[in-house]
Amino acid sequence: MIPVITIDGPVSSGKGTVARRVATRLGWHLLDSGALYRVLGLHAERRGVALDDEMCLVDLAEQLPVEFREGEGDTAVLLEGEDVGQIIREERVGELASQVAVLQPVRDALFARQRAFAQRPGLVADGRDMGTVVFRDAPLKVFLTASAEERARRRLGQLKEKGFGANLATLIEDIRTRDERDMQRAVAPLKPAPDAVEIDSTELTVEQVVDRILGEAAA
Ligand code: C5P
Repeated sequence: MIPVITIDGPVSSGKGTVARRVATRLGWHLLDSGALYRVLGLHAERRGVALDDEMCLVDLAEQLPVEFREGEGDTAVLLEGEDVGQIIREERVGELASQVAVLQPVRDALFARQRAFAQRPGLVADGRDMGTVVFRDAPLKVFLTASAEERARRRLGQLKEKGFGANLATLIEDIRTRDERDMQRAVAPLKPAPDAVEIDSTELTVEQVVDRILGEAAA
């Protein structure tokens, strides 16, 4: 069996950064499942498909012309051959992603594509439902959290780095609203798998979290 480590968690929990570093340290493949939903949202928008048109969205998801090209410390995301790595990170596209992500048939259409990322020597998969749905059979499942305040502080730091201003109190509020929505949604609600290792990274550095996961993987 191909080893898989799943890393799920709420918005701005640092799972993307942690997953990438764990994958690099192990020399394993990486699945950023959020990127898949983001690419689908963008593709739908470009094709003029309404975000509630389930049948069309399922078609698009099944045929999604996306390619993830793993490079040194980075993965290029190509949609119909165009590098969309930057565009899909925009808030606007995140919003499109979360709208298509609430449709169960769309999630089903992306299921096999996500499973196909599990290739030798191993896979680190990050998202919301990696441990609860897509890789339920993974031997190591991590649920990464941090307090809303700490996640908002990290987000503020990222925004400042990009030259954007933001208000901490607004970001905390925003994160709490998104947590609520992610945990309450009827389709694929965010929750830890029953056998997940929960790591609270509020007081930990990225490297400490990575070391903890690698320690669990070696155990
Ligand atoms: O993690 P990221 O912010 O890139 O995900 C974008 C959106 O895609 C999230 O808001 C979430 O609604 C959705 N998503 C999901 N299931 C996943 C990954 C992402 O529903 N496995």
